[in-house]
Amino acid sequence: MLEHDVIIVGGGLAGSRAAVEMARMNPSLNIAMVAKTHPIRSHSVAAQGGIAASLKNVDSADTWEAHAFDTVKGSDYLADQDAVEILAQEAPNVIIDLEHMGVLFSRLEDGRIAQRAFGGHTHNRTCYAADKTGHAILHELVNNLRRYGVQIYDEWYIMRLILEDAQAKGVVMYNIENGEVVVMRAKVVMFATGGYGRAFNTTSNDYASTGDGLAMSALAGVPLQDMEFVQFHPTGLYPVGVLISEAVRGEGAYLINSEGERFMANYAPSKMELAPRDITSRAITLEIRAGRGIHRDGSPGGPFIYLDLRHMGREKIMSRIPFCWEEAHRLVGVDAVHEPMPVRPTVHYSMGGIPTNTDGQVIIGPGLPVDFKFDPKDKSVNPRNNLVDGFFAAGEAACVSVHGANRLGSNSLLECVVYGKRTGAAIARFVEGRKLPDIDEQRYLQDAKEQIQALLDRRGGYRIGQIRQEFQDAMTEHCGVFRTQEIMQEGLTKIQQLQDKYQQIYLDDQDNVWNTEIIEALELRSIMIVGQMILTSALNRLESRGAHSREDYPKRDDPNFLKHTLAYYSPAGIDLSYRPVSITRFEPQERKY
Ligand SMILES: Cc1cc2nc3c(=O)[nH]c(=O)nc-3n(C[C@H](O)[C@H](O)[C@H](O)COP(=O)(O)OP(=O)(O)OC[C@H]3O[C@@H](n4cnc5c(N)ncnc54)[C@H](O)[C@@H]3O)c2cc1C
Repeated sequence: MLEHDVIIVGGGLAGSRAAVEMARMNPSLNIAMVAKTHPIRSHSVAAQGGIAASLKNVDSADTWEAHAFDTVKGSDYLADQDAVEILAQEAPNVIIDLEHMGVLFSRLEDGRIAQRAFGGHTHNRTCYAADKTGHAILHELVNNLRRYGVQIYDEWYIMRLILEDAQAKGVVMYNIENGEVVVMRAKVVMFATGGYGRAFNTTSNDYASTGDGLAMSALAGVPLQDMEFVQFHPTGLYPVGVLISEAVRGEGAYLINSEGERFMANYAPSKMELAPRDITSRAITLEIRAGRGIHRDGSPGGPFIYLDLRHMGREKIMSRIPFCWEEAHRLVGVDAVHEPMPVRPTVHYSMGGIPTNTDGQVIIGPGLPVDFKFDPKDKSVNPRNNLVDGFFAAGEAACVSVHGANRLGSNSLLECVVYGKRTGAAIARFVEGRKLPDIDEQRYLQDAKEQIQALLDRRGGYRIGQIRQEFQDAMTEHCGVFRTQEIMQEGLTKIQQLQDKYQQIYLDDQDNVWNTEIIEALELRSIMIVGQMILTSALNRLESRGAHSREDYPKRDDPNFLKHTLAYYSPAGIDLSYRPVSITRFEPQERKY
């Protein structure tokens, strides 16, 4: 059995920033980072547009309170405001700290960090490294991991969280290179496993974003919070779905329908193209539905609209957003200096996740009953009781919740850094004086080996890719930008049928060496659990809030639904309960832009 003081699962921004903090606070800690990719291939590396902080370099009127308010309004008042205050208040310091580590941010003429406009933010506060911000930050953090002696287990797949009596004790891991199965125990386990974009057929996320951490937590009895809130980014490149950063609109690009109209004037006249993502994605979907989308030959009635950069000019395009130009050129043959880009909404981000307190420690509940009505003035209900001993989470996999029902662009990298750092610090304190837990290693090894053998032994008639495609198509069709009871119910039935089909897959590869089919089978199980959690949570939220937009319940309903969903998985079905929202300084209001 392998042993460390701390196991961090995930080498993206959240996991790496946490590791750096722990090592800084206590250099003698024995830290393991495990990732199924190499850490610098985590999805964080693909982040483009930037990271928000009220540095006031461009806009001296900005304040952290304004950043907090924009975030809470953007969240449709579902974010926990104590967590948002920490996010906005600590933002300037974490950026300066990154700069001191050596992150190469883009500059103003006078040498200070440049800041651009972003959707839903009322000031220019997004710091960036051209349109490769994630790349710039992650490389520097991973360099630091090496410097601090963090032991990296890359290309190991974590199959199971070992959680007994509400205490996290370790993980079971599978070596992708040679098929070896190992148990690793530790005083603390942290999940920083990222999102689940691959549960849908069109996404900006990488192939590894399969929600494994969420599924493993759910299987171990931990609830998942607010899973109904799936972010659709307005500008996925058509037809591939890869991201064209919001920075492109931040730098001045227009959204145009088949009539050549800047249609955002009809949906968010004060913010136009820089309205929050939920609103912009709905606007694009409505334009396409109304027949004002565009076909590839330029005729009206097609499946996309245009993102038009032509008025920005070559120099600005090539200096501020060169990567987005390149993507469109390489993937769909569009030269954005002279032609508009074809775009439509693409699945991008998970607002929900593993519920934590503001130190990153995971909440197990139980939550409050389904008919619980939250009164923001009643301070007696403790929103964050009952923690899991020794289990922490941060980044996109976690739900602390700073994004509520809709995340603002450039707040996710910030969350990873602020809460990665806080969680790292909390773990360094927590681990003091703790002993390694006892684990029945043989039992876990045997379970894992049997699970893998059972996959290899399946002799059904379905290939993994076929079931995955059907599942992704079902999620996309039945849990999209607009939802109804009927459509989602149908989706849930389809998913249940696909779960039965999953029992009848077969694997071509029966070998131990680089058997990526085993990983694909395990990842498919993860996205299927996640999909069921999303649909069940969404079916039970009878209102429209942020990214959860129901045509049968078009209004936000604070008296009944100003509360977080907690979904508990069991093979027999999913149980729901709820948790109050933390409201500190911003009373819920109608959300208009
Ligand atoms: C294309 C794109 C552009 C974006 N641009 C921006 C932006 O400009 N600004 C912004 O704020 N946000 C942006 N986002 C969102 C932001 O990048 C992510 O939310 C954030 O980087 C997530 O970081 P993370 O550390 O939580 O997880 P990730 O970076 O996704 O890392 C997850 C890690 O977990 C590991 N892992 C997962 N499952 C397992 C397992 N079973 N076993 C072992 N390891 C596992 C992976 O190998 C990986 O190392 C963007 C997202 C995308 C997809």
